[in-house]
Amino acid sequence: MGRLIDGKQIAAQIRAELASEVEELTARGKRPPCLAVIWVGEDPASATYVRAKGKACQKIGMNFELHHLEEGISEKDLLKLIEELNNREEIDAMLVQLPLPKHISEKKVIEAIAPNKDADGFHPYNLGRLLIGAPTFIPCTPAGILELLKRSQIETVGKEVVVIGRSNIVGKPIAALLMQKNTGNATVTVCHTATKNLTFHTKRADILIVAAGQPKMIKAEMVKDGAVIIDVGIHRTEAGLCGDVDFKEVEPKVAAITPVPGGVGPMTVAMLLKNTVQAYKIRNNIVL
Ligand code: NDP
Repeated sequence: MGRLIDGKQIAAQIRAELASEVEELTARGKRPPCLAVIWVGEDPASATYVRAKGKACQKIGMNFELHHLEEGISEKDLLKLIEELNNREEIDAMLVQLPLPKHISEKKVIEAIAPNKDADGFHPYNLGRLLIGAPTFIPCTPAGILELLKRSQIETVGKEVVVIGRSNIVGKPIAALLMQKNTGNATVTVCHTATKNLTFHTKRADILIVAAGQPKMIKAEMVKDGAVIIDVGIHRTEAGLCGDVDFKEVEPKVAAITPVPGGVGPMTVAMLLKNTVQAYKIRNNIVL
């Protein structure tokens, strides 16, 4: 039976640590950190995520500012709002909820956010820093995976890590982090849709990270006995939420596994809070 890597509990621990940092700041007479979120349109999944982010901020005593814009807003007006938030002293970090409507360039929007207020860590400056082993703001999901591994005492040094997926927000950054000497020091293989024999790679993995967006694609015969499985996928099905891993089949074979829900998901929001507190501290030159 695989040990459950309890993302819910670890995320709660991180939120509690951040709440006491915020308390210490306010006890010193300082204002709490503030996260601004821009949400364009009415996508229902985005609505859930934005609400969760707002609630999480408020729960740890942080300020949260929501800018909900209509679907038809022009790219120019959106960029203008980002510029205003870049210049406002009391905004420490911001993010633009993705996906955006088709008439707005995601790339332009991400690049318009000041790198020192980049809560999601998607700006090329921050991704570049990550790549050279000097990260400041790490994208929240990869940051959450690193914390999950660390706080579950899962060693990465010298391990065979296989990542399925090469998106800019999950696959590429987690592969770069785990390869890097100071944040993983593992041997990393990245698989994608052009990978010829997926099972050949997944079977070799000591740690398998699945971020493919394909419900239950990882079956028992694709994993090594005693491996550690990190399932990033989230899918809504009639039977409830499931991940990219067929949990029921795979769990008995492995040493440890993240459930869906309750694995990587809760960590993503916790790391967003962490990035915001980090931005606040850097901008205000505060060491706690
Ligand atoms: P993307 O769709 O951007 O990327 C998916 C990647 O997986 C691509 O690189 C794609 O390859 C690869 N891929 C897809 N199918 C296969 C396959 N059959 N074999 C091998 N590789 C494959 O997804 P994201 O990275 O944004 O997200 C991945 C999953 O994680 C989604 O389910 C998403 O909902 C979830 N997610 C969960 C988060 C959380 O907080 N838990 C946060 C972010 C995402 P190619 O490049 O060749 O197309």
